[in-house]
Amino acid sequence: MARVALVTGGSRGIGAAISKALMAEGYQVAASYAGNDAAAQAFTDATGIRAFKWNVADYEACKAGVAEVEAALGPVEILVNNAGITRDAPFHRMTPQQWREVIDTNLTGLFNMTHCVWNGMRERKFGRVISISSINGQKGQFAQANYAAAKAGDIGFTKALAQEGARAGITVNVVAPGYINTEMMAGIKPEVMDTVILPAIPVGRLGEPEEIARCVVFLASDGAGFITGSTLSANGGQYMA
Ligand code: NDP
Repeated sequence: MARVALVTGGSRGIGAAISKALMAEGYQVAASYAGNDAAAQAFTDATGIRAFKWNVADYEACKAGVAEVEAALGPVEILVNNAGITRDAPFHRMTPQQWREVIDTNLTGLFNMTHCVWNGMRERKFGRVISISSINGQKGQFAQANYAAAKAGDIGFTKALAQEGARAGITVNVVAPGYINTEMMAGIKPEVMDTVILPAIPVGRLGEPEEIARCVVFLASDGAGFITGSTLSANGGQYMA
């Protein structure tokens, strides 16, 4: 039987590209999403990949969601923690709510989701946990104290868990994208894009979601079994860490 891969936030943007790339590699794929039913339905209609709705920031919802996916497809062997949000503001104007929403989704979401599949992976002696962090978790970013803290936390989480999973056949890794051409980038003003962002990227362009998906496909593969606790940076040379 084909391995089962669950991609959180797998119905739009980078996550949709990851879902499609994993399906093309022969995995059985489930995508989760938060609330954009129209986008999820359009994604399922176009790809045949089932989409399941729950909030990764809610532990009980994750437990129920994973149970639903496993009842439909079988045990989750590949977990891609991709769901993420931004709530940007300079720190002096950042509200506690903006802080909490980003930490709850982008960092606590990793605990919630990974915790719900971890024991099954340990029992089966195989697992792949791949989380999508960000270049801004590696180098920081103006007006993103919340996001940078969560995304840096994703990397620490991964390094700790990689040590716990190693003897159980579970690898735990991070992909840290630079600026990728998705709806998340649509909020950036064109003049900021042209004068600040693009000049900072040595390859001179945004990345494409499919380029991040290839990283995930590689880390999910049997051939990547010796790679754990790693951060794969895919950022066009913007930050060489
Ligand atoms: P999008 O905004 O395009 O898509 C986000 C996806 O995550 C959607 O499917 C959304 O569901 C889902 N989602 C958001 N919040 C939750 C939640 N609480 N519970 C469940 N699902 C949720 O994002 P991108 O594709 O741009 O980003 C994907 C990941 O990559 C994120 O973690 C982001 O931080 C990271 N990243 C993105 C970069 C970029 O340049 N775009 C750069 C570096 C990292 P719904 O459709 O229902 O809203």
